[in-house]
Formats: sequence, structure tokens, C-alpha cells
Amino acid sequence: MRQYKQKRQQILDLEAKMHFSYDMGETLTEDDRLVDQILNKIRNKYKNDQINIIIHDFFKNQKTLKDSELYSILDIMPKGGLHHLHTTAAPSVDFYIQLTYNEAVYFNEREKLFKVSPKGLDEDGYIKCTELRRFSASAEEFDQKLRNYIRMTPEECASKESHEIWTHFQHKFTLINDLGKYKDFFKLILHEVLQKCAAQNIFVVELRHIFGMLFDDDRNPVSLEEEIKLIDDQVKHIQQDIPYFRLKLIITGLKIVGKQHIRKMIANIIEGEKYSNLIAGFDLVNEEDFSPPILEFLTDIMEGKNLDKKSKMPCFFHCGETHDRTNQNVYDALLLNSKRIGHGFQLFLHPHLQQQVKQKDICIEVCPISNLLLGYTTDLRIHPVRFMLHRGLQASISSDDPGFFGYEGVTLDYVYAFLAWDLDIKDLKKLSLNGIIYSSLDKEHKDYLISDVFEKKWKEFIEIVLEKFQGA
Ligand SMILES: [Zn+2]
Repeated sequence: MRQYKQKRQQILDLEAKMHFSYDMGETLTEDDRLVDQILNKIRNKYKNDQINIIIHDFFKNQKTLKDSELYSILDIMPKGGLHHLHTTAAPSVDFYIQLTYNEAVYFNEREKLFKVSPKGLDEDGYIKCTELRRFSASAEEFDQKLRNYIRMTPEECASKESHEIWTHFQHKFTLINDLGKYKDFFKLILHEVLQKCAAQNIFVVELRHIFGMLFDDDRNPVSLEEEIKLIDDQVKHIQQDIPYFRLKLIITGLKIVGKQHIRKMIANIIEGEKYSNLIAGFDLVNEEDFSPPILEFLTDIMEGKNLDKKSKMPCFFHCGETHDRTNQNVYDALLLNSKRIGHGFQLFLHPHLQQQVKQKDICIEVCPISNLLLGYTTDLRIHPVRFMLHRGLQASISSDDPGFFGYEGVTLDYVYAFLAWDLDIKDLKKLSLNGIIYSSLDKEHKDYLISDVFEKKWKEFIEIVLEKFQGA
């Protein structure tokens, strides 16, 4: 019996050592362990009383979870970095609704498109939102209609295959395009998004951003230099209260728009680097199985890396957001030295690539709720990245397009991951630290965030939780 138990313990120890957060064990304080117990108790209560909350209707249950004790705890927990967030899909739906109260906003009911034109618009089908609102039965009825166009609805997601969901999802970006690109609104949006992220104790935000799309009051394009200055100003605004806060931009090309657009984004990176240090690198987006593969843009990417004398154009590819075994984007992401991997869902089909990801110390930007709503998994408990964490691959938690999914920031993704993946305090600490470690910040600021800011903020967080929940 003694021998059996020894053998058993050996296996347990071996597995524990493989786990992605193993090295956090020795950093835990007695208070950290007490908070772990509190969190465990909360999760057990869900397991006993509301086990279905993470499986069933997201749209109904997200409200219950947002109002929960668990949410309030994870909301104040330091989250080193938010690595994967698309600029125009980041603000809340209600923030967009507020913008439609501006006289410059028009809506085309037939096309389901907004247009912003401060100096008036005489285009077939477009009527001012303020007028449409006046002619509706009530302002609330009109706003609710817009809300349902902008965000994903249960009908658009439930029991559907990913491609079917994407047909609705992709249109959301087109629908709000003008709202997000009008210069004055863009400033407001960016300010709102950064502030909400900072309020969730996120230290660095890395936005997937499309350069060169902004327009002014006359609908003339805003120069890249001005766009960057405008972004810089918003960051400085946040830094007045939170000096350590940082923003980085991953310039993102739309594969479906074509090579010319992709080349433009690469050129923008090289030009933009002259004006600022905001730019982290390059990425390509769109529904993976229904857009050209990374390989199709290989020449342009290689050329970009050569032309970018400053940083060799680091890449942060969306890849593996698919179930299709023939999709090979993950191979190219690795060969092109992608710094991080956006989603990486399909890595579960590639054991060799998983080894590579581990060896090269590449972080997977996992977006639990996005994967759930876009139909890549129907149950987060069996999300592939969970298994990869147990094999020692590193990940960070992101929200992708929270505005379209009905929330802001990334706290709700932590709530889902915590419940679905049985995360403990070591795991949470590691995920948060990974946000800094695998960010695009320079070494000096990373070191400062880890050794000064994180330690202090983590201690504060633990103290608040103990004060509020110990003995409760
Ligand atoms: Zn994305």
C-alpha cells in the first residue's frame, strides 16, 4: 500500500510540474492561499447549485455572472495585459447608441448601415438617427432595435455552425464602420475603451487596429501622423491617473479586402514607426476558413520584415480559429516567428506544433467567450487551450470583440475561464503575469511592471478580497 501511494504521488508530482503555472507555487503567500480557498468555495457553490450557468444561454446568464461576487473579485484582480482586442468591437453597444444621438449620424434601414456626415448627407436611404428616433413609437424602442443590430443576438448564435454565425458577425463591423472611423467619435471610443480597461486593473492593452481609415468633418481622410498623435493623446490622458498604463497597436490587415490593402497596412507600419513607439507589429484577420491563408501574403510579409529596419515587423497572427484539419495557418504563423498566436484553437490537431509553441515560448491569446459565441466550442470545459495549459504551454486571456458580445474589458472572460477550467490562484496569477511577460512592451517597462506595479497591486487585491470575504 505504501509503495502504491508513493507511485501515485510521483505521477501527481510529475503532472503538476508540467502545468503552465507550476512556477507560481513558490511565490504564493499565506494570504494568497486563503483567497484561493475563498474562490474555491465560490466555484463549488456554482458547481452544486448552478452548474449549467457556464454551459447554457450565455446571453441570459452573463447578467447573473456580471452581478456576482466572483465577478467583483476578478474585476479588481490585476490583469497584466489584454493582448487581443479589436478597436471598433471593444466599446459597449450602449456607447455606440449614445453616439447615434449626434445629429451627424444617419442610418440606412434597408442596408443596415450607419453613416456619419457632420455637414449633412443627401444619399438615398439614409435618414438622421435623431429623426428616426422621433418617428419611432418610443426612443427606447428605436434604441433597442439598433442595439440588436449592433450586438450578437441569441438567435444569431444559438445552435449554429461557426460560418453561419460569422455571416451575422462580420456585418457588425461593416454596420458600425463609420461610427468608429469618424475622427471625433474615434477619440471618444478610444478614451472609453482604455478607461474601462484601466478600471479593470489592466496594465497594458494591445489593440488590433486598422490604420488610415479615419475621416474628418468633411469626410476627408485623416493623415497617419495625425491619427497616431490622436491615439497618443488618449493614452497620455489615461496616464495622468495611471502613469504605468500602456497601449500598443497591432496593425491589422483585412485578408478579404486583398493584397493592395495588406501592402498599405504594412507601409503604414513602417511610416507609423517614424512618429511613435505605439506600434507593436502586424496581423491578418477575417474568418479563417473563408478568407485567403497567411501563405498568400508571404511575399508582402517578408518584404515588410525587410523594409522595417526598426523592428523587423513582428507578427501576431490570428491563426487556428478553425476546426478544419486542412487549414495550415498555424504552420505559417510559426515559420514567420509569430510573437503570440491569436486563438490557436486548432493547435489541438497539431502535437508537433504544440511542442514548437512551447519551445519557442509563444503565448496563446485565448478568447474564451469569443470562441463560445462564434461556435468553435459549445462547452468551455473542453476548450483545447485548457489541455494545452496542462501541458505547459503559455496563454493569456483576451476578449476579442466584447462590445459585440454584450460586455466590456476582459473580466467576464476570466470569470468563464475560472469556472470552466477550475483555475486556482496560481493559474490566475500566472495568466495575469503573462499579460505583461508576453506583451510588446520594452524590457525596462516590463521589468518595472512586474517587480514594482504587479507585486503591489496583487497584494492590494489579496487584502481587499480577504477583508470583504474572509469568514463570509
Ligand atoms: Zn480577433
